[in-house]
Amino acid sequence: MKRSVEWWDEWFLGMAAYVATASKDPSTHVGCVLARPDKSIASVGFNGFPKGVEDRPEWLNNREEKLKRMVHGELNAILNAHEPVDGYTLYNWPGRSCSRCAVHVIQAGVVRVVSAYDANSPFEQRWKEDMDLGEELFRSADVEVVNFECITDPHALRTHKMIDGAGNEAEVLTLM
Ligand SMILES: [Zn+2]
Repeated sequence: MKRSVEWWDEWFLGMAAYVATASKDPSTHVGCVLARPDKSIASVGFNGFPKGVEDRPEWLNNREEKLKRMVHGELNAILNAHEPVDGYTLYNWPGRSCSRCAVHVIQAGVVRVVSAYDANSPFEQRWKEDMDLGEELFRSADVEVVNFECITDPHALRTHKMIDGAGNEAEVLTLM
């Protein structure tokens, strides 16, 4: 049986949620996956400071200082691809793209953007106006927009302990 588009969208969004766990941003962990038309993965990206720039707590914990230094997950995914991304699909967790990312994603040639969407999340509420503009930009450039309604509470990623074969304890993240 052929898997549906929705099945693949949900699977890739789950992957984007896992990618997000690598972010050191104390407020929002963003994860992105860039998928080729054949469903193989070109790259992943999460939000973080540029390579070589120190993750100083005083910058990470000061919104103004943080925003000046942060590379968003979408742009990191594009830069990490090391190949043209024309015709690819971008998966976004835990919310829609901001307007700056939208212009880069459009310009890179991405044709479809699938985002987790949770109207009640603090992330969506903080960025709503700018995300609305991002969405408007995508639509005006004929990029297909899919907002996948789901709960993006960070606790939806549950951490539990696992003991590996050598008896070592490891933290494991599980998607609900
Ligand atoms: Zn952005």
